[in-house]
Amino acid sequence: MCGIVGYIGPKNAYPIIINGLKRLEYRGYDSAGIALIDKEISVFKKKGKVSDLEEFVSDKNTAGTIGIGHTRWATHGEPNDVNAHPHVSMKGEFVVIHNGIIENYSRLKKRLEDRGYVFQSETDTEVLANLIEYIYSFSNVSAEIAVRLALSKVIGAYGILVICRHEQDKIIAARKGSPLVIGIGEGEYFFASDATPIVEHTKSVIYLNDNDVAIVTKDELSLKTIHNVQVNPKVQKLSLDIGEIEKGGYDHFMLKEIFEQPKSILDTFRGRVALDRKSIHLGGLHDVFDRITHAKRIIIIGCGTSWHAGLVGEYLFEDLARIPVEVEYASEFRYRNPVIFPDDVIISISQSGETADTLAAIKLAKEAGALVLGVCNVVGSSIPRETHAGVYTHAGPEIGVASTKAFTAQVTVLAMMATSMGFKRGVLSQEDYEKLIEELYNIPPKIEEILSFNEEFKRIAELYKDATNFLYLGRGYLFPVALEGALKLKEISYIHAEGYPAAEMKHGPIALIDQHMPVVVIATKDKSYEKIVSNIQEVKARKGIVIAIVNKGDTIIRDLADHVLEIPESHEALAPLLTVVPLQLLSYYIAVFRGCNVDQPRNLAKSVTVE
Ligand code: GLU
Repeated sequence: MCGIVGYIGPKNAYPIIINGLKRLEYRGYDSAGIALIDKEISVFKKKGKVSDLEEFVSDKNTAGTIGIGHTRWATHGEPNDVNAHPHVSMKGEFVVIHNGIIENYSRLKKRLEDRGYVFQSETDTEVLANLIEYIYSFSNVSAEIAVRLALSKVIGAYGILVICRHEQDKIIAARKGSPLVIGIGEGEYFFASDATPIVEHTKSVIYLNDNDVAIVTKDELSLKTIHNVQVNPKVQKLSLDIGEIEKGGYDHFMLKEIFEQPKSILDTFRGRVALDRKSIHLGGLHDVFDRITHAKRIIIIGCGTSWHAGLVGEYLFEDLARIPVEVEYASEFRYRNPVIFPDDVIISISQSGETADTLAAIKLAKEAGALVLGVCNVVGSSIPRETHAGVYTHAGPEIGVASTKAFTAQVTVLAMMATSMGFKRGVLSQEDYEKLIEELYNIPPKIEEILSFNEEFKRIAELYKDATNFLYLGRGYLFPVALEGALKLKEISYIHAEGYPAAEMKHGPIALIDQHMPVVVIATKDKSYEKIVSNIQEVKARKGIVIAIVNKGDTIIRDLADHVLEIPESHEALAPLLTVVPLQLLSYYIAVFRGCNVDQPRNLAKSVTVE
C-alpha cells in the first residue's frame, strides 16, 4: 500500500516523480505529495489524486534535481491535506515519506510532546519525522545516524525516504516490512515502492531487505543495516516491460487484465509443461518436491482473492493428490495460536508478494519448522525471499486494484502443483496426468471464446446495474468462484454481494430472495449439476432472478433461468479458470454503468502492506 517515488540525479525531479506517482497510484490514492530540494526544500501536498496535486502545483516553482513523492493509503488520520505526506519535522530539518505503520507511535509521540514537540497531523509518520529530528539536534549526529537511531526505536513496518535540510546532497531510504526498490541509472538513482515507476528509466535495481538503510547521493549508493553493518548491494535486472504497465487502448487496467488472461495463463504454464505435453516440471519446487509429495497436510494461507484461489487449491490437492488441505486467512492463522507440524507444507499465496499478514504467517510457520512455499506474482518481492521455495505466477504486472489475471494465474499454478503431485503419489494415472495437461492447454483458447461474448455480459450488466444486493452460488470447485464473483462486485461497484455454496442457500440466504434479487448461479456440467438445477428451481420458486453460467448447449437451465451465459466445457478441476471470467466482466460492466472508478475503488488499495 501507498506509493513512494524518489529521484536524485542531474534532471528535474518533478516530472519523474509525478509520472512515477501516477504509475503507483493503484497502491493508494487518498492524497499525494512531493518534496523538492532546490537550495530550500519545498513541500506540496493535497488530498485526492495525483492529478489534484498536479493542479495544485501547476503555478508553483517545481525546480530541483532531488525529490521524494508519495500517494497515501491512510492508516492513521483521515485523508486530508495535513495528514498527506511528506511530513516535515517541527523545526523543518527533515522531510519524510512513509509506507507502513509505526505501531508504537503514540508512546513515541507522548515522549516527544514532553520534550516540547508539537504535532500538525494525526499520522504516525510525523512522529518518525520528529523523532529523527530530535535525535539529530539533541545528539548532534549526522542525518544518517539520526535516521538509524530513530528506526532502532520504532516498532512496526516502514518503507521510508528521508531528506535533510542541512544535508541536501542525499536521500536516505530504509525498509522494514514495506517494500522499497532503488533503480540505478547513469549518475542518477530512482526510488520506488515497486519497480513500475523505475522500469522506464533503468533495468538495474536493488531491492532493499528488512533493516537495510541506503544513503544515496548523485554519485554513490552506500548500503548498511540499521546497526551500521555495511551490506553489499545485490544488483538485479528487471524483466518488466513498459508496455505491460500501460493501458494499451483499454478504458481501464481491469478490463485489459481480464482480456490478458489467455496469455497470462499460458505464460504461467508455458515452460513448466514439457513440450510433448506429458509432464509438468516446476523448477522452483525441484529441491523440495519429494517433501511436498509426502506432506501429511497442506495449509494454504492468503488474503482476499488469493484466499479464494487457495480454496480452489483445497479442492485440487484433495481431489487430484489426496492430501488433506486447510485454507486459512493469513490474518486469522497468525493470531490463532495454530497447530503447525514440522511435516506440514504451507503454501502462501499473494499477488504482490508483500501482503503483511501473509508475511507474518510465513514467519510463524517457519519458526514451527514447516516447509513454506510461495505463490506470488511480483518477482523479487518479500514473500519469495522469505519462503523456502515457490512458484511465480507469470501474470505480468496487475495494476487494477480488483485482482483478475492474478487469480487465474494462481489457480493455474495450484492446478499444476496438484496434478504433478497427484501423479507422483500414484493418485493420477499417466493417462489422467496427460489428460489434465491437455485440458490446461485448452484453457487459453476457451477463455478467448468467452471474451468474445463481451457484449452479452455488458447487456446483462446494464439490466442489473441498479440492484442493491446480489447472491452468487456455486458448488464444489465452483463455490470459491462464487465467493470471488461476489468479492469482485463488492470491490468495484459497491453493491452488497455474497457468495454461498449453493446447497447452503436454504440455511439462511434464501430468506433474502425476492423478485428484486439477482442470483448468479455457476452451473456448469459436473457431478453436482443435477443438484444445482434444483437450487435454481428453489430460487425461481421465490421469484428470484437467475443469471446462470452454463456450458454451451445446456437446454435444461436455459428453460429455467432468466439469463444464461454460455461457456465452453472443461475438466471439472479447471472450470474455475473459465467460470470466473464472466463474473469478472459482469462486475466490471456493472461498475462502469454505475460510474464507479473501476481501477481505484474507494477505500481499497493494492498490495496490502499493513496488517
Ligand atoms: N501510516 C501512514 C499514514 O497513515 C502511511 C500510510 C501509507 O502507507 O500510505 O499516513
